[in-house]
Amino acid sequence: MHEFSLAACLVETAGELARAHGAVRVTELACRAGAFTQIEPLTFRSAFTVVAAESLLAEARLVLDVEAFRLRCRSCGVVKECGPGQTACPLCGSQDMVLLGDHGLTITSMTLETDDEG
Ligand SMILES: [Zn+2]
Repeated sequence: MHEFSLAACLVETAGELARAHGAVRVTELACRAGAFTQIEPLTFRSAFTVVAAESLLAEARLVLDVEAFRLRCRSCGVVKECGPGQTACPLCGSQDMVLLGDHGLTITSMTLETDDEG
């Protein structure tokens, strides 16, 4: 239930930001998940719906961008996105590869609704 703790963290951070900007509601939340979070998007979406239910984000549309892993070759220096299980350099065939990617979730944008009536 890794996705649940990440979603809870995201909702808390986004909720604090929204309140700091005087928002009454968040209509859209865009975030980027680092490759090392290894989240499963569908699970994350349902986790988000559950944890956001009682918050300013209850009706927010979630835009999720999941980063792909990249491999950097120590022999020729090339950096390539890689699929699961890929361990050799596509250019030189070397297996001396470093796995690159970000950790954690980053909020990239938020659409807020403020209460202008009062
Ligand atoms: Zn290489």
